[in-house]
Amino acid sequence: MSITVVGSIAYDAVKTPFGERERMLGGAAVHFALAASFFEQVRVVGPVGDDFGEAELQVMRGRGVDVSDVERVPGGKTFFWRGEYGWDLNSRETLDTQLGVFEGFQPKLSPDSRSSDVLFLANIQPDLQREVRAQLPGARFVALDSMNLWIDIARDSLVEAIKLCDCVILNDAELRQLTGKPSLLLAARDVLSWTPAAGDGETRGASDAGEARGVGGPRVIVAKQGEYGAALITADSFFSLPAFPLESVVDPTGAGDTFAGGFVGYIADRLRSEELSDELLRAAMAHGTALASFNVEEFGTERVVRLTSEEIAARVQELREITRFSDAPAKS
Ligand code: AMP
Repeated sequence: MSITVVGSIAYDAVKTPFGERERMLGGAAVHFALAASFFEQVRVVGPVGDDFGEAELQVMRGRGVDVSDVERVPGGKTFFWRGEYGWDLNSRETLDTQLGVFEGFQPKLSPDSRSSDVLFLANIQPDLQREVRAQLPGARFVALDSMNLWIDIARDSLVEAIKLCDCVILNDAELRQLTGKPSLLLAARDVLSWTPAAGDGETRGASDAGEARGVGGPRVIVAKQGEYGAALITADSFFSLPAFPLESVVDPTGAGDTFAGGFVGYIADRLRSEELSDELLRAAMAHGTALASFNVEEFGTERVVRLTSEEIAARVQELREITRFSDAPAKS
């Protein structure tokens, strides 16, 4: 099932203990699209400025990503982000964010982008996420990412956006901040209890007449935990995977979006022939984890654009081996 993603398309300046890049292709929608392109057709929606290069568009086209809804704003400047990481790469400081063409951006989706069955609302202003959500009323699976900035300055709108999604993918600290609950499990259960008001649910129509699809609000929560992995929480299950252990991490930028691309991409592929189940979600977690592990091995998108499906499959197998254990009972 094809996927539409809306979010930032950026130039990033990044400094880590292992090197720096002054102006590289980045942005949440770009990292997501490159990862998801290993599983399904992806369409990217978002603005860029005059300064955005043809070579950068070609990086996405090279992975088969449809960039026809990337809107070039005459006289505008592409979103720019500058960040620097601490020595163990766990702490990151944002030094500069220039919204550029995102100021005043009105998402205009082509009929193709509106026809996707799967939608990813990458980290952008929640009002924009809701506008895009409303343009895909029949989507079968909608996932959303956000960040502390929007919890700080636009929480009400973000909560309304979340209610119109099936899946929320956030850092664990963001989930706690969003809900005010110190326990990750309680925070996730709180979000799972949110339901849209009557009427809002009209944006969540059924695309498949045979499927009973309610207007129930989010039913899947993914809590990203950086180098410690990610947890999956639904109404009646919990699952957790560590990050893939790597000796050398060079640049974590975009790891979260790459995880989301692998996770949502895998689900989009499998939803062609099966229902959303715990087994499907767990396998999706493994693919997201594998994709994210490649992303951090080099700067920006450098590693993922050279990646092959065989390498992803091999890493998923290794992850299975790493997390396997026997359940022989302890002797009393
Ligand atoms: P991640 O490391 O997964 O948090 O994603 C980093 C990517 O998000 C970078 O490529 C940035 O261009 C992009 N980014 C950083 N800040 C923002 C923001 N405020 N809004 C949208 N995208 C952002």
